[in-house]
Amino acid sequence: MLEVRELSTSYGAVRALSDVSFTAAHGEVTAVLGANGAGKTTLLRTITGLVRAQGGSATYDGRELTRTAPELMPSLGIAHVPEGRGVITELTVEENLRLGGLGRGGRVKPEDLERIYALFPALADRRAALAHVLSGGERQMLVLGRALMAEPSVLLLDEPSLGLAPRIVAQLFELVQSLVVDQGLTVLLVEQNARSALSIAHRGVVLSLGRVVVDERAEVLAGDDQLRHAYLGF
Ligand code: ATP
Repeated sequence: MLEVRELSTSYGAVRALSDVSFTAAHGEVTAVLGANGAGKTTLLRTITGLVRAQGGSATYDGRELTRTAPELMPSLGIAHVPEGRGVITELTVEENLRLGGLGRGGRVKPEDLERIYALFPALADRRAALAHVLSGGERQMLVLGRALMAEPSVLLLDEPSLGLAPRIVAQLFELVQSLVVDQGLTVLLVEQNARSALSIAHRGVVLSLGRVVVDERAEVLAGDDQLRHAYLGF
């Protein structure tokens, strides 16, 4: 499991995370929710060592992550998909996918690519196209596919639904759910779209001003009017 213990981070004088603790269980989706500026992105960036932790720890199966170089994350089974669809638009779909296989070391095998194309048939159809021509939804599929090339055990997803039409969000979340069910992936899903995130999550952790204010089973959180109105806006 992914265990976050008393994690704290600041940007200069701005405290972004204060003693954040929670556990993301194996083979489950843990949704990290909260308003703009609550610290969700900072949490993922601190777990993967992109932002220095001032205190506390994040361990995966006992290995400390926060003091491990970010580029070593794939070799520990951790894939971080940052916000903003970071596809390289000047490269083809397949070239983008190949980049995702490099983090593990060794060569990219044709069967690795086929595994991803089976999950994302729309990418298979456009494997030779420049990523530039992809829609927002296809770009999100591509960054997800690129992360999966490294065969991670843990997927850290930052706002995958941002800017996508509801129908595409539903498809994307269905796919994430099937990865969890079929492959036992552990997912930490950062979302502002709390309703969609909770529809596939097992647990929901709500951050407010860098602190955990709720840590509950997803169906309890989604079914509690007071909690929803106070923190989730639906
Ligand atoms: P959003 O949904 O807008 O991405 P978030 O919940 O992911 O919000 P963070 O981006 O982690 O929140 O920001 C948490 C706090 O840290 C905010 O007060 C933000 O202004 C501040 N912050 C984030 N990045 C930086 C930075 N690079 N330098 C200074 N302050 C930052």
